[in-house]
Amino acid sequence: MTETTVLTETPASRGEEPEDRAERVAARAEAVARVAREFAAAVDEEGRFPREAIDEARAQGLLAAPIAETDGGLGYSITELCRMLERVGRECTSTAMILAMHHSQVLCLTRHADTDHLRDFTRRVASEGLLLASATTEVNIGGNTRTSTCAVRPIGEGRVVLHKTCPVISYGAYADAILVTARRSEDAASSDQVLLVVEAADLQLERQRGWDALGMRGTCSESFELDATTRADAMFATLFETISAQTMLPAAHCLWASAWLGMATQAGLTARSVVQKAARKTPGTTPPSALRLAELEVQLQSMTDVVRASVARYEAAWEDPATCESMQFAIAMNTLKVSGAEAVRRIVGDALVIVGITGFANRSPVSLARLYRDSIGPSLMVNNDRILQHTATMQLVSRGQR
Ligand SMILES: Cc1cc2nc3c(=O)[nH]c(=O)nc-3n(C[C@H](O)[C@H](O)[C@H](O)COP(=O)(O)OP(=O)(O)OC[C@H]3O[C@@H](n4cnc5c(N)ncnc54)[C@H](O)[C@@H]3O)c2cc1C
Repeated sequence: MTETTVLTETPASRGEEPEDRAERVAARAEAVARVAREFAAAVDEEGRFPREAIDEARAQGLLAAPIAETDGGLGYSITELCRMLERVGRECTSTAMILAMHHSQVLCLTRHADTDHLRDFTRRVASEGLLLASATTEVNIGGNTRTSTCAVRPIGEGRVVLHKTCPVISYGAYADAILVTARRSEDAASSDQVLLVVEAADLQLERQRGWDALGMRGTCSESFELDATTRADAMFATLFETISAQTMLPAAHCLWASAWLGMATQAGLTARSVVQKAARKTPGTTPPSALRLAELEVQLQSMTDVVRASVARYEAAWEDPATCESMQFAIAMNTLKVSGAEAVRRIVGDALVIVGITGFANRSPVSLARLYRDSIGPSLMVNNDRILQHTATMQLVSRGQR
């Protein structure tokens, strides 16, 4: 682990009262949630980057949340990050997903930055409030993040070049830097990958396709030809295989699933408010939809428990690379992604049926239309089938215990 690692810090170790810290963490999340709620409809309608909410996150110091306080960040634990995303996910899926994707990249830096340049860059993420995007997907490879076709090529004087055809880079046009996967060299195997931090100034992005999508419209997940010329020490010395197993994959799945839990929670709250209103109209009788609400609660409780238990599992494993790299842990984190994606789609859909026609309407105080469209995205962002296929392959040889 590097000097910039922070997840071992606890409120007690810093002499803080846990309640004070929890209150501050919640207040920052609330501030971003408030702005996200205000602009969520416009972001969706216009399919535009949620700049107001991301600016608020930056102003609250939240873009540097996982970075150590000694390096200018807030020193948030993975649990604190995830709770913040639950809250923001209730108001604007796009904002929550952008923060989730950004934080999964920042965590790669806090845990694995292993050159002086990368350690300096991590501190700059905090001091300048930089926004980080990710380019793992590649044309013809799709969501299989553990293989690349493109390769890093040295050009002398400590510099490298890279060309990558990227079918999707969320908010690529708005990011200050992109973390890109590539083969280590032109004669390396497809799985012999490195991770490279490319700052916007060292990057040319030629937009190929826009993002007029069904949901998650504010993520601006456009398609680009990416050309980078940058310093060789912007490349992590640690193998991407290790970064992926210990950090990028489990962090992404925990952060994404927490944002989706926020979406499901909001749908559940909306359905409950509608059923309560119906009950108040007919005192003494229980509306038929109350039973459906009770069924929805079963799903919501189970999703909450799975997501929060998985986040706790990752936090507990953080200090133990062997656990993070074990097959059982990889299966658990894959399963979290698949179950979270399926749960949010089901819960938002079922809540919509409970709310009825006013939930179906695009414009109503209890509309679930945007949330419903957004809830399809999780099953596709790395397709559930692809993840299940990986899990199936691991299950064939796994000897791990639960
Ligand atoms: C909202 C959103 C934001 C995104 N943001 C980013 C980003 O910022 N950066 C980034 O790099 N990527 C991003 N992606 C892309 C994402 O990571 C996936 O690469 C992309 O969704 C396509 O991958 P896929 O594997 O689902 O589909 P494809 O590889 O195109 O596969 C299509 C279909 O074939 C099936 N399939 C293909 N191969 C297999 C297999 N081996 N086993 C089982 N089934 C298979 C899939 O299940 C799917 O049904 C984003 C996607 C979404 C939806």
